[in-house]
Amino acid sequence: MRQTISRRRFLGGTVAAGIFPVVSRGALDFPLVDYHVHLDEVVTLEKALELSRQRGVKFGVVEHAGAKENKYRGLLSTDEDLKRYIAMLDGKPVYKGIQAEGLDWMSCFSKRTVAQLDYVLSDALTFPEKNGQRVELWRPGVTIDDPQDFMERYVAFHLQVMAREPIDILANPTFLPACLEKEFDALWTPDRMKKVIDAALKHGVAIEINSRYRLPRPAFLKMARRAGAKFSFGSNIHGMDVGKLDYCLEMAKELGLHRHDLFTPAPAGQKPIERRRFA
Ligand SMILES: [Zn+2]
Repeated sequence: MRQTISRRRFLGGTVAAGIFPVVSRGALDFPLVDYHVHLDEVVTLEKALELSRQRGVKFGVVEHAGAKENKYRGLLSTDEDLKRYIAMLDGKPVYKGIQAEGLDWMSCFSKRTVAQLDYVLSDALTFPEKNGQRVELWRPGVTIDDPQDFMERYVAFHLQVMAREPIDILANPTFLPACLEKEFDALWTPDRMKKVIDAALKHGVAIEINSRYRLPRPAFLKMARRAGAKFSFGSNIHGMDVGKLDYCLEMAKELGLHRHDLFTPAPAGQKPIERRRFA
């Protein structure tokens, strides 16, 4: 214990010395990483590296990856795409990741190439409706006729994402479309939260604390913490505020997170694509 305290004091000292000039780290004993950074025309790789240095936050860059039916600019759909992307980030001080799309993204790439990434994150926000249509829950104007029925299917979909996809991080956890915002706490019952958390633990998936949506809320995070889940920080902010982790830091302090509670990329041979069986 003594060792932990002295290390925290030591890191506290480095804050005062100005090594982390922007983010107030308080007593945190781990390096800050934003594992959910999207590049675009404004935040180019060069710009991202500059922001990362300024903020004292290491970036994990993610590009959308999956079958061609997923309509994202810059989508990676083939092994060649993925190799080119990995080569682009090679030698840069970032983690290399993808944001996987669809339950079948693995079929687009070779295991070997995916294993060259530091991590894969995915979420449950592209939700298959009963008629087979995929609804992008973050878009404005999404309507839900029967919230309880939706929640049952949405929780089940979270479980499917984690059971079927060899992923490292569940991004944007517990996100609800704007139309359900007011009922958020009533809809995310302890039982539903527990199902998602149990699945994350079972499959060794880290839970993203998302600073853009300020999710998951404390009740979920506390339950996950008690269960022994791992957490990652992610801004998912498209634009110049990328790397701002205010909510993540608030929650890290509230939960008393330490180095061993935080996700770190798996070593070679231990990545989900290598260690997990999937259909
Ligand atoms: Zn994203």
